[in-house]
Amino acid sequence: MIPFCRPSITELEKEYMAEAAQGKLCGDGPFTARATSLLIEKQGLNNALLTSSCTHALELAALLCDIKPGDEVILPSFTFSSTANAFLLRGAKLVFCEIDPRTMNMDPAAAEALVTDRTTVLAPIDYAGVPCDIDAFNAIAKKCNAKIVQDAAQSVGSKYKGRACGIDADFACYSFHETKNYVMGEGGAITFKSEADLHQAEIIREKGTDRSKFYRGEVDKYSWQRSGSSFLPSDILAALLCAQLERFDEIMNDRMHVWNTYQTSFKALEDEGLLVRPFIPDYAEHNAHCYYLILGSLQERNDLLDYLRTKGVGAVFHYIPLHSAPAGVAQGYKKEDLPLTEEYSGRLIRLPLFSNMSEADLSHIVNSVYSFFGKVAIL
Ligand SMILES: *Cc1c(COP(=O)(O)O)cnc(C)c1O
Repeated sequence: MIPFCRPSITELEKEYMAEAAQGKLCGDGPFTARATSLLIEKQGLNNALLTSSCTHALELAALLCDIKPGDEVILPSFTFSSTANAFLLRGAKLVFCEIDPRTMNMDPAAAEALVTDRTTVLAPIDYAGVPCDIDAFNAIAKKCNAKIVQDAAQSVGSKYKGRACGIDADFACYSFHETKNYVMGEGGAITFKSEADLHQAEIIREKGTDRSKFYRGEVDKYSWQRSGSSFLPSDILAALLCAQLERFDEIMNDRMHVWNTYQTSFKALEDEGLLVRPFIPDYAEHNAHCYYLILGSLQERNDLLDYLRTKGVGAVFHYIPLHSAPAGVAQGYKKEDLPLTEEYSGRLIRLPLFSNMSEADLSHIVNSVYSFFGKVAIL
């Protein structure tokens, strides 16, 4: 079976983790510092903090948005549960927004129509590593005085109008989960527009203390400053990320080769009207996080999934839209509320994509999609 994803772990990752295991095991050790600098440098960010997951980065952002019960957060329904949980945990009312089916990202025009005087946060995501239209969301946020929390879990290394994806949001949250482009098993990061938010976040993620300042020698003792939690990853995991980020371009180029091969190979099927390929807006440079196809119907998508499984291809689908999942229904949503999200999520299939896929496996996957349609690929 060709797996859906497979992290690229080399001797370098093992070497760094072994080195870390000899030293400081908790958070904010030397590898955390190195990985953070690399992340800032490789993406072109102004600042960043490593976190124990993107989920925790989103929770940190939600805490800093100072949400009060009843405040409204506009977010896509086509996303992972963590985007919603971060705000639900703070008592926010979740306002699910439609997607633009060309990118599967939150549709700015639909979001604008959902703004009320309770709107506190807009939380777009960068689906498949293709940046959301952040300028459009910032324009809306400015009008209603809302913050932007960008769920950039999938878009490490992507660019928006040549700028690092996430740099134009109040908060942007990245993921280094095993299934993402750069991995630390479980892990994430957050970047901030405001220096004041960065300093508060440093305290929140260290159990509400100024221990980070203490480690840097800026204070001679540390103490409890405010409410907080534990959002730092172990230095052993930061060592793993450090190696991954030193291999940033290598991993990106490998993934891009697979993505581009799919995109070129499936053009003929799209031209025949059999499927729709991903659309990359002019403003975007993506990071080859995920390759997906939109089939003609839910039935056809499910048939293709089953067919690929018989061919040894580990294709998958996601997401069950949040608004029609049990927790969404419990909040009063109905399937019909977001028809585009329902339809397109049902028609979407994701093909295996990882950085050391063999050419034989790649052509087997392409050929299998072709043979599902009774066609032969010309490669
Ligand atoms: C992966 C992902 C997350 C969660 O990231 P973790 O690091 O596993 O917490 C959140 N949102 C989106 C859109 C994701 O793809």
